[in-house]
Amino acid sequence: MKKIGILGGMSAASTALYQARLNAQTMERLGGLHSANLLVRSLDFADIADMQSRGDWDAAGDLLNHEARLLEAGGAEILILATNTMHKLADRMTEGLTIPFLHIGTATAQAVAGQGLQRPGLMATAFTMEQEFYTGRLRENGLDPVIPNAVDRATTHGIIYDELCKNIIRDDSRKTYEAIAARLVDAGADSLILGCTEVGMLLNASNVAVPVFDTTFIHCDRALDAALEGT
Ligand code: GLU
Repeated sequence: MKKIGILGGMSAASTALYQARLNAQTMERLGGLHSANLLVRSLDFADIADMQSRGDWDAAGDLLNHEARLLEAGGAEILILATNTMHKLADRMTEGLTIPFLHIGTATAQAVAGQGLQRPGLMATAFTMEQEFYTGRLRENGLDPVIPNAVDRATTHGIIYDELCKNIIRDDSRKTYEAIAARLVDAGADSLILGCTEVGMLLNASNVAVPVFDTTFIHCDRALDAALEGT
């Protein structure tokens, strides 16, 4: 099994979900005492969130590139970036790398299209819902994403940063998310992309009326496919 390099900590809550998923899936696929072959770099999310809110994407890109190079130098054979939002900087981050990089947006778009679905609702950070780097990637893969209205976008974004990234799970926020998902279905969504790696803490197939695509699970599962290829 190839070694998967995880550039994470964005947030730490989501990196914990990545590790849990990768280990559980490895055990399921390989059995015995197998667990995932990982090299995890977990950054301090306060620094990243600060760069995001200042709009200092150059500094963030330099940092991610530096850290990605360290993962490669440390023996990672496949690289994943454990956040949707920071895929805004995927090109800068992967400059000079030779190991394969698995893009979360592409993996997710292929999963949705592979089920014959075309109009996924998207619940994510404001950066991901509003900027071309992500919605454009979905469109390039044949999808026509449905984005929440401005109030719902602000609410979705706020719950991610104020609660989920701090590992706070609240029932009222779950109900709020369920209502936003329902409004996306009313607006024509035929599926729902949990386009932020923490959103699965509140939403899943049991409380959403359309098929749910959790980017954390999809990303982990495709990384594992790549790590096990040829074994
Ligand atoms: N983990 C989140 C995402 O998937 C948000 C945190 C971040 O801004 O990186 O977008």
